[in-house]
Amino acid sequence: MTEYEGVIGLEVHAELLTESKMFCGCRVVDSVEEDPNRAVCPVCLGMPGMLPVLNRRAVEYAMRVALALNCTIHPHNIFARKNYFYPDLPKAYQISQYELPLATGGWLEIEPELGVVRRIGVRRVHMEEDTGKLTHTENGGSLVDYNRSGVPLLEIVSEPDLHSAEEAYVYATKLRQILRYLDVNSGDLEKGVLRVEPNISIRPKGTDQLNTRTEVKNLNSFRILFLATEYELERQANVLDNGGEIVQETRGWNEADKRTFSQRIKEDAHDYRYFPEPDLPPLHIDDAWIERVRAELPELPDAKIARYRNDWGLSRYDAELLADEKVTAEWFEAAVAAGGEPKAIANLLLNNLFKLMNESGQSLDEIDVSPEGLVALTELVEQQTINNNIAKSVLVEMFETGDSAETIVRAKGLAQVSDSDAILAAVQAAIDQNPAQVQQYLDGKDKLMGFFVGQVMRAMKGKANPGVVNQLVEQELDALK
Ligand code: ADP
Ligand code: MG
Ligand code: ZN
Repeated sequence: MTEYEGVIGLEVHAELLTESKMFCGCRVVDSVEEDPNRAVCPVCLGMPGMLPVLNRRAVEYAMRVALALNCTIHPHNIFARKNYFYPDLPKAYQISQYELPLATGGWLEIEPELGVVRRIGVRRVHMEEDTGKLTHTENGGSLVDYNRSGVPLLEIVSEPDLHSAEEAYVYATKLRQILRYLDVNSGDLEKGVLRVEPNISIRPKGTDQLNTRTEVKNLNSFRILFLATEYELERQANVLDNGGEIVQETRGWNEADKRTFSQRIKEDAHDYRYFPEPDLPPLHIDDAWIERVRAELPELPDAKIARYRNDWGLSRYDAELLADEKVTAEWFEAAVAAGGEPKAIANLLLNNLFKLMNESGQSLDEIDVSPEGLVALTELVEQQTINNNIAKSVLVEMFETGDSAETIVRAKGLAQVSDSDAILAAVQAAIDQNPAQVQQYLDGKDKLMGFFVGQVMRAMKGKANPGVVNQLVEQELDALK
């Protein structure tokens, strides 16, 4: 049997989080929270004779994405009409870009397997407007909401460089992460502000032909992107192995059966009768504008991860967790800027603070612990005012009350006892109260050191300096030998 390899290209549509729409002044609203048809006007309702005016902010958001994806932004842009008739689009055409898109020739690096970095080509990034949203009712009718009509939309088209469902998943996830970092899209697949459509074909492994492909639409999670791509690769292999032919078509995903199904035979570009949009002048983008947008780009996750590992000695795992979301990275970096030791901050943030946040369902910008507050806590540990275990319980208290570490340590008398006399008294008491264990220790069971340390710590409510306790326990036990 032939061994096949997947050939996959992703078309990603991302709504841009601008205040107003692409060609009119209507607000961009949350499609789930806002009532239907509240953010509409004659332009986005497609009334005859209405003229579009381009939203400069939308162009800049699109430029951010193009630059982050290493694309070449073209100085001369034109908009095109993509003609089709469907009630989600009252003008009967969508303003899009066709022959002269905003940007081409970029790439995004993914690491589908540890140590295997693959550069996936980004063929084009172009601007367009979103359409309205149809809801089909049970009695056979359809409702249309034009709040979404005219919302700025970016289409990001990859080269067919992805070879498995896993790679498609990793590429899509990373693209989402970058869009969120750039503050241009919330990445909310369920709300449809980000839509990912894989184009899928297969070929005998080791060949390089581009065979007939199918496109799968309406996938509303990355899990489904993965499952649908995997299913489709297998389906195509079965068709070919049985002597059949792949039909170029658009397929949907049936969640109940976990399979793709044929929706419609795909249109070709000429069916859309693209032509230049006569109501919008060409858009010129000069170098100065590009450089201004470039200067505003945030540091992206890959650069952050490299810096956390190289400059601050963090593990790859911790660095990736910290860089995963921009809010986390910024919070972490604010703590380091406030004098925190990167590893100590990373540990408390990832292991302790995140756990507390999970339990309370809060995000970093909602909690009462500030980066500076966490640094103050780590300083108390560094100065040996408290030990690591106490620090964890102080953090819980900080999280619950919003009080500073110092206030809590003082109010609860948690400051560590390093006073040798007090610790020595506790060590002697532990020895007196546990003659059996003392005998076992003297008979060679060295591990019992830990037992005595534990007894002393408990007697001193966890506040004793662990270094001093260890030293005195060893000293006193050895004196009995
Ligand atoms: P269309 O205009 O029909 O959407 P494009 O040529 O713009 O087609 O390609 C759309 C997507 O399909 C791109 O992501 C591209 O990489 C991918 N693609 C093109 N040819 C193939 C193929 N033979 N197999 C899989 N994906 C493909
Ligand atoms: Mg397409
Ligand atoms: Zn409008």
